[in-house]
Amino acid sequence: MFAAFALAFALTAAQPAAAQSTSPSPSTISEAAPVAVPPATPAALRYYTSGNRLWVLDQVVSIVLLAALLFSGASATLRTWAQRIGRNWFFTIVVYFALFTIVTSIITLPLTYYEEFVRQHDYGLSNQTLQKWWTDSLTGLAVTCVAGALFLWVPYLLLRKSPRRWWLYTAAAAIPFIVVANLVAPIWIAPLFNKFEPMHDKVLEAQILALADRAGIEGGRVFEVNKSVDTKTLNAYVAGVWQTKRIVLWDTIIARLNERELLFVMGHEMGHYVLGHVWQLVALSSLLILVLLYAAYKTMGAIVGRWGQRFGFVDIADVASLPLLLLVTSVFSLAITPAALALSRHLEHEADRFGLEITQTNHSAGTAFVKLQEQALANPWPGPLFKLWRASHPPLGERIVFSNDYHPWREGAPMRYADRFKK
Ligand SMILES: [Zn+2]
Repeated sequence: MFAAFALAFALTAAQPAAAQSTSPSPSTISEAAPVAVPPATPAALRYYTSGNRLWVLDQVVSIVLLAALLFSGASATLRTWAQRIGRNWFFTIVVYFALFTIVTSIITLPLTYYEEFVRQHDYGLSNQTLQKWWTDSLTGLAVTCVAGALFLWVPYLLLRKSPRRWWLYTAAAAIPFIVVANLVAPIWIAPLFNKFEPMHDKVLEAQILALADRAGIEGGRVFEVNKSVDTKTLNAYVAGVWQTKRIVLWDTIIARLNERELLFVMGHEMGHYVLGHVWQLVALSSLLILVLLYAAYKTMGAIVGRWGQRFGFVDIADVASLPLLLLVTSVFSLAITPAALALSRHLEHEADRFGLEITQTNHSAGTAFVKLQEQALANPWPGPLFKLWRASHPPLGERIVFSNDYHPWREGAPMRYADRFKK
């Protein structure tokens, strides 16, 4: 369920440098010259292989941890504590969720610290200080607790009031929640972690706004964020809905790409914006939540019937059942992840097409991808299992090949999105 929420925020340019201003593009480059896909370096291959092993370990740890909380009776104990502290039904849920989040975060802390901090520094991908890592982690914990306090009572109320239809009503209630989360995330959540400012380079900003105008985006907002304090990788993304819709550039990507490369990346982001991808992901997340909750509805009762005595609760409307709900939904979500990621890769591919059509700078698109690959230690040709379960974007090798090969305007062939461009 939380994985599905996370998807709604994952419309990034690519996988993921200190800030300075963007270098102008050399006027001598020919945009028709193909770009070779650089082979993965030995460090990139080590990063790829160890990353896959860690991903498997993460899945196992999460499942074992949730099962242990249930079978040891620890979840029921947390609920009893929460009843004592919270007193009434609503605050029991709020306190239970806070205790659950804190306990599981402490247990997984060594692994999280290794993955997010130690490993990123080992591979030279991070600039983050330990203090920033701690502040970000604690802020993230607080945000999770607040989100839980705001929303978790809904399924538990519905579980009590409507034992047969709670999954349907909860999924319906999740839709406005996801929309509001998308609306407030860029203005209330993201600034808790980094500083968002208008673009420093006004010449570049004017070029981006001119491109946005051609893409049919009116009153577009572009922000620069100081991600160089956290990472050396490069990224840009679109976020928000309605009044909070914006394109955000990491300062690392501004520093590392030249003008044309950056404008291609902006064209890609504008593609997400114009083609309504944020809304498509909201719809996808809602559908995933519906499917996962239905799976939970079909299985949780039988599991509690079989092991309820050991769990210390017999009613799934008891908030102590939360680890079971998360366990069941995360196992089923592993099964539907390949379909969700395939759709995500399709949207990213269309955003690449949009970026190429509006800029027509094939060579610069290719060299932008090469820089993303080098800076993130990415493997341009990952294996099929990685693609199925982990790749929200087409592999960079495929993206470079596509940017070499896709140029209908040179042959006078029709473009897919040209009718959307202002002349
Ligand atoms: Zn994208």
